Amino acid sequence: MDDDLPFGRSRRDFMRLAVTAGASATASLPWMRQAQAQTVSGSTAQPLSGAGHSGTQLILLGTKGGPTPSDLRAAPANVLVVDGQPYVIDCGNGVALQLTRAGIKLPALRDIFLTHHHSDHNADLGNLVFLAWASGLHTPVHLYGPPRLTKMIDDFADMNAIDLEVRMREEGRPPFRPLVNLHEFDGPRLVMEDDRVRVTSFLVDHYTIKPAFAYRFETRDRTIVFSGDTRYYPPLADFAKGADVLVHEVMYMPALEKLMRTVDNAPTLLDHLTKSHTTTEQVGQIAAAAGVKTLVLSHFVPGGDPAITDEMWAADARRQFSGEVIVGRDLQVI
Ligand SMILES: [Zn+2]
Ligand SMILES: [Zn+2]
Repeated sequence: MDDDLPFGRSRRDFMRLAVTAGASATASLPWMRQAQAQTVSGSTAQPLSGAGHSGTQLILLGTKGGPTPSDLRAAPANVLVVDGQPYVIDCGNGVALQLTRAGIKLPALRDIFLTHHHSDHNADLGNLVFLAWASGLHTPVHLYGPPRLTKMIDDFADMNAIDLEVRMREEGRPPFRPLVNLHEFDGPRLVMEDDRVRVTSFLVDHYTIKPAFAYRFETRDRTIVFSGDTRYYPPLADFAKGADVLVHEVMYMPALEKLMRTVDNAPTLLDHLTKSHTTTEQVGQIAAAAGVKTLVLSHFVPGGDPAITDEMWAADARRQFSGEVIVGRDLQVI
């Protein structure tokens, strides 16, 4: 595979897909009111303004770190909507439902990016493409991420062969597997470029999970960087340099230390966490060094504890970083 060029797609893909793109969000859906209500004070969050919206909007689909389900926050996933076209970043459990709640039409999906192979980020990768297909997707989908994507999709298609064949035969669906195009890579590169967005990858340090990527999305009007999962990693600040928005993972040590007092394997667990994730204070240091306008905290660890207030999540970061800090919530539009 060529190291200098993004993974190619034909012009015909774009032309064909442009037809489906416009319908990705419609005005006055319930999620918009919910997202507005959840917007924290001081944030620049705006609701989508309808199907004809132009420009770039970030929607946080799921903001909880780790695989344990919680009724407070959904599993990690984000979507950028650029001139109506959705670009999905990570596929935690429930991503299809969260996209639907965000007003995104699943058959309009075309590009899906995975940061790394922890199950809180990839559990619903196959499911998302499948549910889009079962909802009417008939155009190519491109998946970008670490090696093993192809095996995951092949195994998913094999596991679901009965359902896939029945729907092709009885519902007239097109063959599933040929629609899915896999783009695997293991280092920094220009990942994808189309007429709306330019996407580059960067290797972060997520302890033993390798590769683990951060992504930078540059559009006509905004630059948005996703840290993925990473320990405190100063080189990430260079990759995020000058971005409008940095979406960064975060963990809150006081709550974790309290939690550790209740488990037997505390030293091992604490060691794992500190080598894998970034503290509330460190995330502010990264944002300050990067000089971003807005820091969005997401992928909260622990993410299921209602006793940790927004102010507790943001306080340390605000001491380090003088820009805007948003404590992310599911379905928040930024
Ligand atoms: Zn994670
Ligand atoms: Zn992870």
